[in-house]
Amino acid sequence: MITAYHRPKTLDEALTLLTHPNTLPLGGGTLLASHKPTLFDSAQGRSDPVEVVDLQSLGLDSMKTSGNNLEMGATVTLQQLLVSEDCPDVLKSALKLEAPLNIRNSATVAGTLVSCDGRSTFATALLALDAKIIVVSKQKAEEAINIGNFLPLREQIRGKLITKIIIPLNVKLAFEYVSRTPADKPIVCAAVVQWNSGRTRLTLGGYGMSPMLAMDGTESEGLETAARNAFHEATDEWASAEYRMDVAATLAKRCLERL
Ligand SMILES: Cc1cc2nc3c(=O)[nH]c(=O)nc-3n(C[C@H](O)[C@H](O)[C@H](O)COP(=O)(O)OP(=O)(O)OC[C@H]3O[C@@H](n4cnc5c(N)ncnc54)[C@H](O)[C@@H]3O)c2cc1C
Repeated sequence: MITAYHRPKTLDEALTLLTHPNTLPLGGGTLLASHKPTLFDSAQGRSDPVEVVDLQSLGLDSMKTSGNNLEMGATVTLQQLLVSEDCPDVLKSALKLEAPLNIRNSATVAGTLVSCDGRSTFATALLALDAKIIVVSKQKAEEAINIGNFLPLREQIRGKLITKIIIPLNVKLAFEYVSRTPADKPIVCAAVVQWNSGRTRLTLGGYGMSPMLAMDGTESEGLETAARNAFHEATDEWASAEYRMDVAATLAKRCLERL
C-alpha cells in the first residue's frame, strides 16, 4: 500500500528521498500502484506499506544513440521503446510479448527490469544483449552494472536509482519463443546475440525468478547443448524440465539459423 507520494524535480532530491526507510522509486506504477505482488516480490516477502518517489519530473524519459549503443532513460516506457526507430526489430517482437498495449504505455524499462520474473521476454533479450544498467545513489555518483550481475541482486537496489539502460546496436539479435497462445508469456523463450568478433550469448526465459544466461562463448559452438543443460531443473506447473530442455535446444538452433 502506498502511504505517501513524492514528486521530486531533481535527481538529488529524489536520491535524498530514497534514503528514507520503505521508500521506493515509482516508474510507470503498473506494479507498485497495483495490489498484486510479482513472483519476485512475493519471494522477497514484499507487501509492506511504502512511500513512493515518482520519477516523472526527472527528465529520464528520453532515448539516444551514442556510438554503437542505444541509451534509454529509466522512465522510457516499453511502448516508447517499441515505436522508436532506433529499437532493433527483434527487440520489438520481444517487447510486444512483455505486456499488452495499455500496460506498455505506462510501464517503464527500469521498472520492468526491477520487477520482472523469468517469463519476461524483455529481460531475456536485454540479458542476451549484455545490457548495462546505470545506477546512482546518494553515496555513489554513478556505477554501470552488467545486467547479468544486476538481475540476481535486484533486492539490493533499494535506496538506489536506475537512471539509464544501455544496449549495443552493432550486434545480431534473434529471439524465439513457445507459449500456450501467440500473445501469452512464454513457457520457453531464447535470445541469441552475436558480436562481430564471434562472441555469442544465449539466454533463456520462461521459467523461475529471472531469465538465465545459458552461454557466453567466443563462438556459437555448443549452443544447443548449453540450452539443454541450463534447463535441466526447470520444472514448474507450466512444463517439465525435460520438455523445456528439448524446446530450449530447438529454439536456440532456430535463433542461430536466423542470425
Ligand atoms: C495488475 C497488474 C499485475 C501485474 N502482475 C505482474 C506479475 O505478477 N509479474 C510481472 O512480472 N509483472 C506483472 N505486471 C507487470 C508490471 O506492470 C511490470 O513488471 C511493469 O513493467 C513494471 O514497470 P513499471 O514502470 O510500471 O514499474 P513500477 O510499478 O513503477 O515499479 C516496479 C518496481 O520497480 C522499481 N523501480 C521502478 N523504476 C525504478 C528505477 N528507475 N530505479 C530503481 N527501481 C525502480 C519500483 O520501486 C518497484 O519496486 C503486472 C501489471 C499489472 C497492471
